[in-house]
Parts: sequence; structure tokens; C-alpha cells
Amino acid sequence: MPLLQRVEHLFKTVIGKQELYVPVRSRSLYAILRQEAGYIAVEHEDSDLLVLMDGETAGELAKVAEISKRAHTVVLLDDAGVFPWSTAGNVVKHTCATPLQSGDRILLLLSTTISLALLGQSTDDVKDDLDGDSLFLGGWTVRRQMVRHLAQSLLGDQAAALLPEIPANADFEDRISSAMMRLSASHAGALESREQNVAREKNNLLSILDVLKAISSKRHAHDILFVFVEQIARIIPVDRCSIVRVWENDDEGHVLVSHENEQILDCIIKLEKYPELTTVIDTGEPLTINDVATHPLTMKFRKELKKAGIVSLLVLPIVRGDAQVSTLILRAARRQGAFTVREVSFLRVVTEAAAHALERAHLFESIQIANERLEQLAITDSLTGLYNRRYFHERYEHEFARATRYNLPFSCVILDIDDFKLINDTYGHLVGDVVLKEIAALMISCTRRVDILARYGGEEFVILLPQTNKEGAAIEAERVRSVMESHDFPQVPKDQRITVSVGVAALDCNSMKESDDLLRAADIALYEAKNRGKNCVVIHEPPGKED
Ligand code: GH3
Ligand code: MG
Ligand code: MG
Repeated sequence: MPLLQRVEHLFKTVIGKQELYVPVRSRSLYAILRQEAGYIAVEHEDSDLLVLMDGETAGELAKVAEISKRAHTVVLLDDAGVFPWSTAGNVVKHTCATPLQSGDRILLLLSTTISLALLGQSTDDVKDDLDGDSLFLGGWTVRRQMVRHLAQSLLGDQAAALLPEIPANADFEDRISSAMMRLSASHAGALESREQNVAREKNNLLSILDVLKAISSKRHAHDILFVFVEQIARIIPVDRCSIVRVWENDDEGHVLVSHENEQILDCIIKLEKYPELTTVIDTGEPLTINDVATHPLTMKFRKELKKAGIVSLLVLPIVRGDAQVSTLILRAARRQGAFTVREVSFLRVVTEAAAHALERAHLFESIQIANERLEQLAITDSLTGLYNRRYFHERYEHEFARATRYNLPFSCVILDIDDFKLINDTYGHLVGDVVLKEIAALMISCTRRVDILARYGGEEFVILLPQTNKEGAAIEAERVRSVMESHDFPQVPKDQRITVSVGVAALDCNSMKESDDLLRAADIALYEAKNRGKNCVVIHEPPGKED
């Protein structure tokens, strides 16, 4: 049986008063008490002092040599291998009547005026204390009767010879010592809880650091928000944790992230179903609902909440400034158990520490996305979705310069819809627009991804083909032409074909010095295609090479 269980049993059966044994649950507090016990032993005047301890305690105790000088007898229990002095004179080794286990600690002082037993025990069962060490359990008593019984149970046969006499006023002393014990017990309790608080604070700080480290390792807003809720769910812990953004005067909220599902991106919820969120927006204060079924705010939704398996909720605002037109809210939920005040204040601190990173990341990304959209709009033709003429010229100049500098093949194809005016005149402008859109879509489908497609003018299109020579460009031009010719446009009768004329030109560094030269060459070829009767491809030949 473990030491402390044995001792508790002993106290209960022999004395019937277990409460006169003061528990010590902290290793460091135990070490302080043991040092103090050592000083008591050294300062002690009685000539009959018996000191009883295990070998490890003897090795760890300060002033141990002085103690042995003062004491009448020092008994070393069980293995005394680490004991620093020779076991001679008043120092005796003794095998415990009830064997000790490794990790058991005993220091026992007994004389006519002093009685103290300090006990400790490491258990390997629980490995969750702060240092990742095994858990420590211990306790002490100054009740003479208890100390004697304990000494007797350890010394066995030797007890009668070694134990000091019980003094005549022992009862009186015991009464005083009981009162003193209670006082010191409460003192020790206070100390211990303070130590626990400090440990918890330290733990909290480390957790906050963990969270901040985790979010700073991410670049994108969604990843930042996701690791944040993931960490919170792990540390508190909770079953659900999400971040919701609510814009001012909006009746909807945007769930930006939820730790159960990383895929959730801006899922919209009706705020009327989430009164806990609206309350937090109104008050700006954290809100804890520890029983959703009975809380006035959530009672109405108890069925839905029960279905979701939620019994308690903790909601708190992450960012809320005067200049803010939206609030970021953290919502955490549990399937069982309430949220403690300590958890609320911890969450408050973490969210405050992370708030700016979260808000900035999110706003920054929104602005970036908006900018990208604007940029895209600025270079796109609104009807067809192809690049517009302005962007085409930009790219054309760039590709032309690159091809001439590195002597790379580069081609340009210009298309013009044949008799498009007729389509407008026959079916109306709106149909003409739809046909233009469809032609753009067909062009996308039969060109390569690297090609740059643009709407050059009303019913004229252009294709830039980087790294492509005349032959390649001719093949692509013919493909586009034949796709158009064979396509059934639903807007016009089946027997009416919509065709295109195509001009193709490839870069010829000898004859094309100015950037306009290539484009002009393609345009000339297109003109020639129209002249040859439309619905055909004409390839521009550099001077001297024409047939
Ligand atoms: P050709 O075979 O010689 O090219 O004859 P065409 O009728 O296609 O040529 P023309 O240049 O005479 O007419 C082009 C027509 O394209 C005139 C114009 O109204 C029409 N058009 C230009 N832009 C748009 C547009 O955005 N939507 C519609 N529906 N029509 C457009
Ligand atoms: Mg035209
Ligand atoms: Mg035309």
C-alpha cells in the first residue's frame, strides 16, 4: 500500500481524526517544510531527540551533520546509500517494518518537547503537473500520538528501545499543537493555492504565447483565424469555436471560420436566431450562458441548441472600436460543463492579445481582394470577358520587346466577324451582343492558355501567341476559323453560318523594327482575307517572300 494511504489509514483507525494531518500537494512547499524541520531539529535542546528519515531525505536535508550531532539517535530507514556520513555512533540503519517504496519521503522528529512527522510520496500515475514531472502528494502532523504511532509502525520491534518517553504534560502540548496545526494548515493551504494560481497564470501566459506564435506563422487571413479558433478549442477546451463578423445595422452575421470545419468560409447566419451574438454586440462585454435551456436569452432556441448538442456558451467581442463599423465575435460552445470565471478572463486576455492581428489580417485580405477585383475589371472587356484593348496594347508592347530582345518567335492573329452588320440589322443589336459573347467563349475554348485574347474593337478580336512561329499561328488561326464556321449559333437560323476572316503575322526581326509593324502586318493580312472573299485565313509574308 502506498505510504500516504498507509498513514491515513493509521490515523483513521488509531486516532479517528484524519483532519489533524495537513496535506501538502506541492513538491516545492514540501521542500520548504522539510528545511524548516531541519532547523527545528538543530535548534532543539532536548537530549532525547529521535530523528527518523529515509536515505534520500538525509541526502537532501541541509544541516544534516549538525542534526546528527544534536540528536540522540538518527534512524536511517531502508536504503541509506546516499547518506553523506558513516553510520556510526548515534546513527543507525534500520529496515522499515513496513517497507518504503521508491519516491517515499519521511522525516520524523520526536523528543519530550517536539513531535513532527513530514511525509511525501511521488506517484507516477498522473503526469500532468507543470514540469511534466510525476505528481507529488504529501502531508504533515505534529500530533504526538500520531507521530508516535507512525514511528512505531516504521520501527517495529525496535520502537520500544528508540522512542523517547511520553512527557507528563503531553496532553496539554497536544492540545496546543492541534491549534497551531490548524493555523499552519490554513497558512499552508493559502500558500498552496497561491502557488497554484501562479502556476496557472504561467500556464495561461504560455498558452497565449502559443496562440500568438501559431497565428503569426500564417500569412492568409483565413489561416490566421482558423489556427486561432483551433488553439482556443484546444486550450479551454470547447466543442465548438467560431469567429463571426457582424457589420453595423446588419441582420446577418458572417461566420468567417469555425474550428470543426476548416472549409467554412464566410457562411451567413441570421442574427435573430443568435441572441447571444446581438447581446454581445450591444453590450460590448463577454457573455456566458451556462445552461442554454434555462437562460432567458437562449430559452427560445433550446430545441435547436439541444439538437446541436450545446449546453453552455461563451461569447465575447474580439474587436470593437469607435471607428469600427463591424464587430468580430468569438463564440465558443460546450456539450457539457459550464465556463468558469477563470476561463472567461483567460479568453479575454487571449483575444485582446490577438485582436489586432486577427482584425488586420482580415481587413488587409478584404482590401487586397477588392483591389484585385478592381484591377481585373480595369483590364477586362465587360461584354465578352476577354482582355480589353488598353490591356492588349500593354501586353503587346511587353511581348514584342521580349521577343525581339531574346530573338523568340512571336505571332499575332486578328479576327473580324464577316458581315456582322447584317446580324445586327436582321436580329437586332441585343442578339448581336450575344453572338459576340459566344464567339469570345469559342475563342477561349480553342486557343491555348498561354495565348492572350482580347477584344480589339467592335467585332474584331486579336490573339497574341508568345513563343509561336508563323506555322503554329496559322494552325491556330485555321482552327478558330473552322470552329466558328461549323458552330451552330442558337441565335440565328441553322443554315446561316457565322464566319470570321483571319489575318496572321509572325515576328520578322529584319523587317519589323517598330512594335506597330507586327500588328499592322496582321491587319494587312486580315484586309487581304476580306478581299479574298471572307471566311479564310491569310498569312502575312515578309517583303521579298511574297508569292
Ligand atoms: P465585314 O465582313 O466587312 O467585316 O462586314 P461587317 O458588317 O462585319 O463590318 P462593318 O465594319 O461594316 O460592321 C461592323 C458592325 O459591328 C457594325 C457595328 O454596329 C457592329 N458592332 C460593333 N460593336 C458592336 C457591339 O458591341 N455589339 C453589337 N451588337 N454590334 C457591334
Ligand atoms: Mg470590323
Ligand atoms: Mg466585320
